[in-house]
Amino acid sequence: MEEFFLPGIALTILIGIAYLTGRLADAAHERALARDETLLPHQYLDSGDAVPEHVTLHDSKLVTGKVVIAEDRFRNLLARLRIFVGGRLAAHEATVTRAKRDAVLRLRTNAKGASHIIGLRFDSSELGRGMIEVIVSGTALYTDHRPTGGKPAALPDDGVNISHRNLLAELVSGSFAFLLICWAIYAASGFAIEWAADSISVEDEVAIWSELEPELIAGHRLDSERSIPERYLVDLINSIPKEAIGPAQAYDFDVLIIPDDTPNAAALPGGLILVHTGMLELVDSENELLSILGHEIGHYNGRDHLEGLGREVVGVALSAMMFQNDAVLTTWVAGWPKLLADMDYSRSQELDADNWSLKILMAKYGHVAEASRTFEKLASMQGGHSVMDYLATHPHPQDRVNRLNKMAEDQGLPIGEPVDLQTAFENYLVRSGEIPASALEDRHQYNLTNTGN
Ligand SMILES: [Zn+2]
Repeated sequence: MEEFFLPGIALTILIGIAYLTGRLADAAHERALARDETLLPHQYLDSGDAVPEHVTLHDSKLVTGKVVIAEDRFRNLLARLRIFVGGRLAAHEATVTRAKRDAVLRLRTNAKGASHIIGLRFDSSELGRGMIEVIVSGTALYTDHRPTGGKPAALPDDGVNISHRNLLAELVSGSFAFLLICWAIYAASGFAIEWAADSISVEDEVAIWSELEPELIAGHRLDSERSIPERYLVDLINSIPKEAIGPAQAYDFDVLIIPDDTPNAAALPGGLILVHTGMLELVDSENELLSILGHEIGHYNGRDHLEGLGREVVGVALSAMMFQNDAVLTTWVAGWPKLLADMDYSRSQELDADNWSLKILMAKYGHVAEASRTFEKLASMQGGHSVMDYLATHPHPQDRVNRLNKMAEDQGLPIGEPVDLQTAFENYLVRSGEIPASALEDRHQYNLTNTGN
């Protein structure tokens, strides 16, 4: 059952909040209805058309009462679940029943002075997303029987939920309440997600992700499924001394190269690191490359990738619920790899990840040369469109340069000679037996960014 832990918590919070707000609105409406009903004089109501026999009819007129109600999201959710499994839509019925009571209340207000209202007919129509109009009509009979009791003067008019408040004030208070609810859900779920992300084991994470994306996770695990550059990148990660990797050493890391000019890298659940060809083209030394990979490994140490994913799930579920649009959810599920690659991390998560990157460089090379080199390049390249894409999710490269340099300085980490990337790649090719040493004559044949071979 652990597979359902994370989405389960998010869903429980959503349902809990929807339930509470729905119940509060319900209770307020119920109270108002009951109060207004006691204010009305006693009138005889009948859906039949027969005029009662023992009364003298003075006058009659057609009266209506209508009300517009916003569908309760929680009830709607319940009803949709009901439609899924079949059965009575009790949740919906309750809302409609209350709306009918409200409409009758308005009808009776309009039939002031009438002792009987006969021929009651209900009609309802959907006005748009979640808005239902209920209309009741009937014939008010004015007879020699005077209705008694009640205080009709205090009743609401037949304004059909028309607000007498300033529309702008309505907009401001409505938006404020909406944002507050969104924020509350987001914040509450944030704690739950953080806790869940920290508690889930690497084994479970891999198992869940293998279920969701079998081709990416399980199918890409074999060396034969990987391209030669991908094998080199995995080999590079595996060459990092285990103790420098931290808790993330529990992952069996995998690298997937994506043909995309945007210089980007991302940590996906299950230990799969995405690297864009744009990033491979940007780096010149193995040290630079490992600094990028080390940073992503750092995100695994903080389980940042799971937290980000959890927040995405809550955000999308929230908007799907608010806007009653399931398409949002389906689109998101279909596009998750892109979303994960564009995921934002907090400043402290980025700082931690950079720290791990330095630690990993130190363990592998004994120095931290070129740790901030890629960000220096990005800082000087600002303006190109692919760079702008990257900067939208990873702002302020110059800040990161300064920060990394300061971290290295504060820890007194030495700077040594970087290893040329092409040379390192070719060494790997020979060492792993991918090609014989003699084949290196034609250097350009084996290019790290050529994912075709
Ligand atoms: Zn990052």
